[in-house]
This record gives sequence, C-alpha cells and structure tokens, in this order.
Amino acid sequence: MTEKVTIEQKVLSENDRLAAELRQKFTRHRVLCLNLVSSPGSGKTSLLEKTLAALNHELKIALVAGDVQTENDARRLERAGGKIVRPIVTGGACHLDARMVAKALEAVPLEGLDILFIENVGNLVCPSSYDLGEDMKVVLISTTEGDDKPLKYPGMFRRSSVMVVNKVDLIGSSEFSLATVRENALTINGQLTVIELSCRSGDGLPAWYGWLRSQVRR
Ligand code: MG
Ligand code: ZN
Repeated sequence: MTEKVTIEQKVLSENDRLAAELRQKFTRHRVLCLNLVSSPGSGKTSLLEKTLAALNHELKIALVAGDVQTENDARRLERAGGKIVRPIVTGGACHLDARMVAKALEAVPLEGLDILFIENVGNLVCPSSYDLGEDMKVVLISTTEGDDKPLKYPGMFRRSSVMVVNKVDLIGSSEFSLATVRENALTINGQLTVIELSCRSGDGLPAWYGWLRSQVRR
C-alpha cells in the first residue's frame, strides 16, 4: 500500500512539473486554457460544437479532444468548424495527463490563439487530480444525471471554477432539480460560477459565450 502511494505521488509530481511548463507557455502567449470535465454523455462535445459555430469568427480557437477510444469527437469538432483540432486517444487511460497534452500541442502554434479547449475523458474522478496547465476546469453536469453528483464527486467540483448545467430543456422529465444541484455544488465550492443552458434548444448559450468573452486575455 505504502509503495503504491509513493508511485502515485511520483507520477503526480512529474505531471505537476509538466503542467507548470504548459501553464507558462499558455500565459506567455496569452491563451486562455479551459479543461472541460464531466461524466460521459453530459455534452462536452456538443457545447464545443455550439461554441465553435458562435465564436469562430471572432476568436481563434484550438481544441484537444481526449477519449479512451476513437477520434469521433475530434472529427465532430472539425465538422463544426474547428480549424485546429488535435485528438488524444488514451488507449485505456481514464483521464488526460500533462504529457499527453504537451505531445498533442507539439505542432500547434500558440501565438495568436485566444482559447484552447481541452475536452477531457468522460470521468468525474481522476481527471480532477491531473493538472493540464489549464487556467480553469469547467465541469459539466446534465439534467439527465443526478442532482447529487457534486456531493458524490466533491473533488471535481472543488477544483472547478465553473459548473455548466446542460440539457435544461429536459427539466421535468426526471427528478433533477436545478435549485438542488446549485445548492449541492455551492456547498462543495462557494466560488463556482454556475451557467445553466441547453445545447439542443440554445437556451442559456449566450451567457456561456459572454462568460468566455469576459475571460479571453486580449
Ligand atoms: Mg465528447
Ligand atoms: Zn483516470
């Protein structure tokens, strides 16, 4: 047990070192880097598709799309207008780490970029432990999940700066309560910015775009 803990600590401190290098690069080039985390199916890729359609003409956006298998999401983002899209297929790992992101960005010019989105592997547990050099983690939760998710996965909500609640058009078709999820999330992390939206109906998306514009560094 002790040995296992030591190895994990070694892996994480090596990750932190690489993440710090990435963060320096992003800061130097004034790129806003957002790490999108959620369980599978919450709508990370859908939110990025909408974001590309709305902001591609005014902001220079690059995307890294991580999945255990397939480059399907990266292809979707390209079809949505993504000009710089890099897939990461982890081949089994249930999270992205800083080394994977650094490798994916090797040939990506950061100069002139406004936003780099990293779509993490769908998983609410270990992506919270791996710093990718991002400015912020954005955690998505959809109304088809339980409104107690923030209490069950507190680490992820504690380390995120924004909670996006997606699929608000489906409110009423389950027991999910917006008030409850908000209360649970704010109990874990009182600093969270909460944005409620639906990628399908478009409700709330302008608030998301407005928040993004407010965070861009140039
Ligand atoms: Mg996806
Ligand atoms: Zn993992």
